[in-house]
Amino acid sequence: LVTGAAVAVAPRRRSDGTAGVAAAQPALNPQGLPASVIFPDDPAYAEARLTFNTRYSRYPAAIVVCSTASEIAKSIRWARRHEIEVRVRSGGHSYEAFSVADGALVIDLSGTAGVAVDAVRREAVVGAGTRLRDLSLALSAHGLAAPVGTCPGVGLGGLALGGGVGFLSRPHGLTCDNVVVIDAVDADGRLVRASEDENHDLFWALRGGGAGGFAVAVAFRLRLAAIGTVARCAIAWPLGDAAAVIDAWQRWAPSTDNRLTLGLAAPGGSGGVVSASGVFIGAEEGLYALLEPLLSAAPSASTQVWSAPWSAVVEELGGPPAAHAMFKNASAIAYEPLNEVAIGMLLDGLAAAPPGANLVGLFPLGGAVAAMEPDATAFPHRRALFDLQYQAYWSPGEDGAAQLAWVRSIRDAMRPFTHGAYANYADADLADWATAFYGGNLDRLRRVKTAWDPDNVFGGPQAIQPTRS
Ligand SMILES: Cc1cc2nc3c(=O)[nH]c(=O)nc-3n(C[C@H](O)[C@H](O)[C@H](O)COP(=O)(O)OP(=O)(O)OC[C@H]3O[C@@H](n4cnc5c(N)ncnc54)[C@H](O)[C@@H]3O)c2cc1C
Repeated sequence: LVTGAAVAVAPRRRSDGTAGVAAAQPALNPQGLPASVIFPDDPAYAEARLTFNTRYSRYPAAIVVCSTASEIAKSIRWARRHEIEVRVRSGGHSYEAFSVADGALVIDLSGTAGVAVDAVRREAVVGAGTRLRDLSLALSAHGLAAPVGTCPGVGLGGLALGGGVGFLSRPHGLTCDNVVVIDAVDADGRLVRASEDENHDLFWALRGGGAGGFAVAVAFRLRLAAIGTVARCAIAWPLGDAAAVIDAWQRWAPSTDNRLTLGLAAPGGSGGVVSASGVFIGAEEGLYALLEPLLSAAPSASTQVWSAPWSAVVEELGGPPAAHAMFKNASAIAYEPLNEVAIGMLLDGLAAAPPGANLVGLFPLGGAVAAMEPDATAFPHRRALFDLQYQAYWSPGEDGAAQLAWVRSIRDAMRPFTHGAYANYADADLADWATAFYGGNLDRLRRVKTAWDPDNVFGGPQAIQPTRS
């Protein structure tokens, strides 16, 4: 709440560049901001400033929890008047905590959370701050689903703006492919509607352009699919068969029946198994038949196939919502199957992982993702076969530096065999992030940015920059 006696804080820098202890700064005048603003002297600030990835600790000037477009507009105008940077937060799950910055005004959209379902039209209007679990469960009550990611706490805002890959992408496309209207607030605080018919350039950019650099998305109208009971599978192979399994998987998973999406994960270190997790929009018998090319690659240690209602699958795949985590993930995109040398390097990289929780995940694209042209939306990787995610997690007191170094080294070692990266898997140390994320769509994104946000109000470490004339 507004206290009227706000004391803004600015962090002292640590040597690693992350924020440290807060230092007092002159008070900011809250006049013009919505009453839901949280300044540093508010008891709610300590929790509200936190980022999902606790590898970062940042001290914004204030956090304003917005429920409406008019509150967002007021917040943008206030920040511009006070020359304070703006950050936009939906679910706060940016890998690099880009939705919070030291000294910035964080426009937090959790107040917009909500799902209005039109079951007859198979559409829903969903607030940007809605978490994925809440969205999927609200839709499944109507026998419907939107193709979103699996993590329960991710916000629809960040996910849809960057693309949105999940177990329904191959049958139904990316999250952004199912967006039909976006209501947004622009850099001047105007409410704008973006669709095929209105502000088409902005609509194009907001579907895959990511990083919040164009406007604040307030609500999305989504196209929905009817999903009832689905078939699930979980398969494990001994680590010694990893090369054969990865090779068979990459030649099959992106091009098998679109109704089947099966991801693969290989652990770091020398223990554990190669595991596969799949969803098939169909019956168990059909799934068994489709799995044959993968199962014949190497004898599995276990193969489980079962059926479950979609709502149960959402809960099972998502697991319980986690409040926070400490991690580094980085991505790469494979347009060609990895050759023998590349698979060997991947496995060598995994074997060299430091002790702890680390893995490489492979997730198939193809299907409905590939049915659109690379320039149909800002997401460029339509012709890719799959994405790779190099992932490491640790707890306070564990050797995070070793995990960070491992992610960077395996990502760099695999670069010659991959092409680009996924914008939603923000990676702060990716020097060529703009080309990696947006490929041939980058120039058009720069033009849209220049038209909609010439003063770079919605800036940030990996926001598209406007071009200067
Ligand atoms: C545990 C975990 C699991 C994940 N699983 C998947 C997955 O299965 N599939 C997948 O595709 N991705 C996945 N992701 C990545 C996820 O899509 C991105 O991290 C996404 O950006 C998070 O969105 P958010 O709203 O929660 O994050 P935020 O941190 O709130 O925002 C992320 C970025 O988008 C901007 N932004 C957010 N909301 C808006 C808005 N309304 N208007 C304008 N800009 C905005 C922010 O400023 C920031 O730059 C996962 C991430 C995590 C941490």
